[in-house]
Amino acid sequence: MNYTRSSTLFKAAEQVIPGGVNSPVRAFKAVGGTPIFIKKAAGPYLYDEDNNKYIDYINSWGPMILGHAHAPVVNAVIEATKKGTSFGTPTEIETQIAELAVNMVPNIDKIRFVNSGTEACMSAVRLARGFTGKDKIIKFEGCYHGHSDAFLIQAGSGAVTFGSPNSPGVTAGTAKDTLLARFNDIEHVKHILETNKHDIACIILEPVPGNMGCIPPKEGFLQALRELCTAYGVLLVFDEVMTGFRLAKGGAQQVFDIQADIVCFGKVIGGGLPVGAFAARNEIMNYLAPVGPVYQAGTLSGNPLAMAAGLAMLTDLNNDAAVYSRLEEKTAYLHEGCAKALNKHNIPHTINRLGSMMSIHFDPAEVTDFQSAANGNNDRFKQFFHGMLKQGVYIAPSAFETWFITDALSYDDLDATIAACEKVASEL
Ligand SMILES: *Cc1c(COP(=O)(O)O)cnc(C)c1O
Repeated sequence: MNYTRSSTLFKAAEQVIPGGVNSPVRAFKAVGGTPIFIKKAAGPYLYDEDNNKYIDYINSWGPMILGHAHAPVVNAVIEATKKGTSFGTPTEIETQIAELAVNMVPNIDKIRFVNSGTEACMSAVRLARGFTGKDKIIKFEGCYHGHSDAFLIQAGSGAVTFGSPNSPGVTAGTAKDTLLARFNDIEHVKHILETNKHDIACIILEPVPGNMGCIPPKEGFLQALRELCTAYGVLLVFDEVMTGFRLAKGGAQQVFDIQADIVCFGKVIGGGLPVGAFAARNEIMNYLAPVGPVYQAGTLSGNPLAMAAGLAMLTDLNNDAAVYSRLEEKTAYLHEGCAKALNKHNIPHTINRLGSMMSIHFDPAEVTDFQSAANGNNDRFKQFFHGMLKQGVYIAPSAFETWFITDALSYDDLDATIAACEKVASEL
């Protein structure tokens, strides 16, 4: 493939944008090489500035669950644009999408819209702290909740459970309020709760982590977390920015039949426009301004274009009773095909999958948490990534990311992906 124009555009971008990108993972640092500049997309395909075509498994990191340039979303945005792009006043469509979301998702009465998943998680934690009157939070190593200070925390050394900043600019004062637990290790969570009995406002997690590859929760883990939260008076916050409206209409809460106290959304809920949201039952949401004391606001929150895109997306997902089983069947087909291809060439690997999320780890051992995900062979991943790209298959440029399967993929696309995997496996 020829990447001449992408290279030229990247050089120009680097002059005026740090690293040439507006979000670090796009820079290909984990895999090497020059990022590809995309010109347009349709259905399951991306087209780059050099006119190369790819089957896309990033799908804007999740939102494009029904494919790129999905007609109902595009039309809704065009129609909304003609009527003005923002008023800074309440609009009817905000209530419409809120009603639909509250209907689709179990256990929530009210929802507040923001502009990104980062904002949703940041606000959910403030609300949890305000509601409980406690300061500390527990998060899990390898779970991503956006880039706000409280979440940019890595495990401390040795036996200490409090974290340390993993980015300059995050203060030690902030870090001391975020406690780090190991995913799928309920005893570790219990220990942290017991040693910080009166201080924990919430436990926040991706119920199915997708930011260290896809890591399904072990049988009973989410239920045990729910019971611990109830016993210790701690709010359970499900960050469903990735899983919301992807695993099921009602997200992971529905799939695992667990009631979270606060739920965060992003990605799919905006249909590809910048949208996040957080939701809870009345008792908690009424703690939020202007009804309650916890402050949260946004000039472009509930923006009419974003709400039009989100409403069109959620409406399609809500009206298509078979969409989630189709997605799951396609993902299972891909899983089976890729496993066969890798096995044929004796490439040690583990494939994790849940719903329409999947990840290939180049390590034969079970991948259940951040440490086991980090054990994967990264050199092999780099070769695999570039090999797939050469075959016209675009997967995320990091071993710690999930493949997002879209309903726009046909079985021919899946077969082409499996054939590419087989070819690349033969060269590893
Ligand atoms: C993407 C993501 C976020 C952050 O969302 P942004 O819109 O990128 O700010 C938060 N949590 C999870 C689980 C995510 O996958």
